[in-house]
Amino acid sequence: MQLYQNQEIKIYNTLSGQKEVFKPLTEGYVGMYVCGPTVYSNVHLGNVRTFMSFDMIFRYLKHLGFKVRYVRNITDAGHLEDDADVGEDKITKKARLEQIEPMEVVQRYTVDFHNVLKTFNFLPPSIEPTATGHIIEQIELIKTIIDNGFAYEVNGSVYFDVHKFNETNNYGILSKRKLEDLIHNTRALDGQSDKKNPQDFALWKRAEPQHIMRWPSPWSDGFPGWHLECTAMSTKYLGDNFDIHGGGMDLKFPHHECEIAQSEAAKGQSPVNYWMHANMLQLNGQRMSKSTGNTVNPDELLSGNNTFFSKAYAPSVIRFFNAQSSYRSILDLTDDGLLASEKGFVRLMDAVNLLDKIEASNTSTFNVSEWKQKCYDAMNDDFNSPILIAHLFDAGKFINQIKDGNATISSDDLEILKTTMNDFVFDVLGLVNSSSGDTTSTSTGTDKLSGAVELLIQLRKEARDNKDFALSDKIRDELAEIGIQLKDGKDGTTFSTN
Ligand SMILES: [Zn+2]
Repeated sequence: MQLYQNQEIKIYNTLSGQKEVFKPLTEGYVGMYVCGPTVYSNVHLGNVRTFMSFDMIFRYLKHLGFKVRYVRNITDAGHLEDDADVGEDKITKKARLEQIEPMEVVQRYTVDFHNVLKTFNFLPPSIEPTATGHIIEQIELIKTIIDNGFAYEVNGSVYFDVHKFNETNNYGILSKRKLEDLIHNTRALDGQSDKKNPQDFALWKRAEPQHIMRWPSPWSDGFPGWHLECTAMSTKYLGDNFDIHGGGMDLKFPHHECEIAQSEAAKGQSPVNYWMHANMLQLNGQRMSKSTGNTVNPDELLSGNNTFFSKAYAPSVIRFFNAQSSYRSILDLTDDGLLASEKGFVRLMDAVNLLDKIEASNTSTFNVSEWKQKCYDAMNDDFNSPILIAHLFDAGKFINQIKDGNATISSDDLEILKTTMNDFVFDVLGLVNSSSGDTTSTSTGTDKLSGAVELLIQLRKEARDNKDFALSDKIRDELAEIGIQLKDGKDGTTFSTN
C-alpha cells in the first residue's frame, strides 16, 4: 500500500485554468518534464525559484510512493536572443564575446547550474537530456510535421505553419490567445521575410557561414529551433502523451504553446495532461533585470556580497522563504522577508531538534493524526506549501508546550509526530537541519560563531586604532583563509561566510 492510494491530489492546470484531480496515465507512475536552463550564463535566481518549486513537487510525489520519471533538459543550442527567430544564438554569442568554444560556454554554465542546485539541496532529475544530444530525434520530428502538412521549407530553413495548424487545431489553447489578435499585434521584423506569416516559428534554421554550432539535415547545415528541442526530448523519454509539464510562467507563450502545436501536428494528440507554471521572483517589489541593476545572483545572495541585503542567508533559509509562498504566487525577495523567514526557519529547526528530547506520557492533548492529515491535505491542494508550514508551526508550538510541561503526548503519537515532521521538513521541503552543519548564519551554533567573529572584528578595530596594521591584516587574512570575509563599510565592518 502506497501513500498516494489514500490521498487525492489536485493540481492547478494552466490548460483548463482550474484545479483538477490528478490522475496519472499509469497508476503509480508519474512522468514530469520541466524546461531546463539555457546554459549561456550563470543561473538566474528567478530560474532557481522555478526549479526549487518543481524540486518540492518532485519530492512530494516521490514521498507519496509514486515512481516519478523527472526529465529536466539542458538547452545547449538553438535558443535565439529573440522569440521571433531573429538574433544570434545565445550560446554562440557568448562564445564569440569571450573568444571560447560554444561547448566551453555550455560546460562552464552547466557546471555552475549543477553547483547552485546542489547548494540548495535539489534532488537530481531522473534524466537530464541535452538538445545537442537529440538532433536526430528533432530532424525526424520535423520530417513528420512536414509530411503531415504543417511545416514548409524556405531557403534551407523549416517553419511551422501556424495559420494552417489553426484551421484544424487551436493555436493559443494554453495561453488563451487568439490567432487573430496575434496577427493584429505582431509587428513585422527584419529577417523574417522567409516566413509565410510572422506568427510561424522556426523548426530548423539554416546556419550562416560563421555559425559554429551546425548539424547536417535534409534541408541545410543548420540547427534546431528551441521549441522543438523540448518536444523531442519530453516525448522521447515520457511518451507522446505524459502527465506533467512544468516551467516558468514566462515560458507559457510562445514556448509551451509551440510545444503543444508541434506535438499535435506530429503525433495527432496533445502531449501533456497537466501544465504547471511557477510564478516569477521579484526583488524589492520590482521585476529582476540586469539592465536596471535590480538583480542579485544566487552566489551574492548566499555570500551576503551584495547591496540589497543586510547579511548572508543560508540555502535552507532561502528554500524555506520560497516554500512560504505558493509556487503560483509572485514571490518578492526582500531583506525583511528573508529575515522573517530566517527566524521562522530557526524556530522550526529548534522544534525538530526538541523532538528527540521530549518524553511520552499516557495520553495526548493534541490530535496528532488529524494534524498529520492536515499536512497532507495542504500539499494535496496544489502543493500548498505555505499552509503546510503553518501546520508545521502548530506542531512546533505543541512540542514546546510538551517541553514546558503544559501538554502531553502518547508514545504512539510521538512516533507519528517525529516521522511526519521529518518527512515534511526534510524529505518534502528539502530543508537541511542547521545543527547538521548546512547553514552558515542561523541557529544557536552559528550564533556563537557570529559572536566570536564579532569579537575578532572588535579586536581588529582596536588594532587599527592603535595603528597595529600587521595584527589587523592578520585577523582579516586568516579569517578569509577559513572562508569568513570581512567587509568594511561606512557603518562599520560586517562579515560573510562561504
Ligand atoms: Zn522547454
